[in-house]
Amino acid sequence: MKKDDCIFCKLANGEIPTNTIYEDDDFRVFLDAAPATKGHCLIVPKEHYDNLAELDDEVGAKVIPLAKKMMKLLKEKLSWDGFNLIQNNGRIAGQTVFHFHMHLIPRYTDDGQNFDMKPSEPEEGALQAVLKEIVS
Ligand code: 5GP
Ligand code: ZN
Repeated sequence: MKKDDCIFCKLANGEIPTNTIYEDDDFRVFLDAAPATKGHCLIVPKEHYDNLAELDDEVGAKVIPLAKKMMKLLKEKLSWDGFNLIQNNGRIAGQTVFHFHMHLIPRYTDDGQNFDMKPSEPEEGALQAVLKEIVS
């Protein structure tokens, strides 16, 4: 299904032209309009899914192999030094476009970006308590 007011539905399906590096029956991969680094791309399915939880399993199974293929292409063409895959779900997690997508972000020495997490030091028993919440 496509969603009428969704910009990524329009971009992925070619209704609005975009800087496409790859396209197949299920996906379009195009340059992010506000790239974090040189070659920052988005893998965008042609069908509309709000987020990862909504993503069709068959389509979802193709995302990582495609990411791998694009990562290799970008290595060949842009010689990155490292690579981040980022996929945001929900406003609080940084999602701004509510059509599933995966960021492909080539990294370069001294590129000035920083996607590091802030590690914490859990108190005694805290991890076990969370584990119990999740698996019981
Ligand atoms: P999110 O924050 O939802 O994970 O990522 C949305 C991404 O889409 C952002 O990096 C933003 O720059 C990019 N973006 C938003 N609108 C457009 C657009 O119209 N064209 C392109 N190429 N990228 C877009
Ligand atoms: Zn959409």
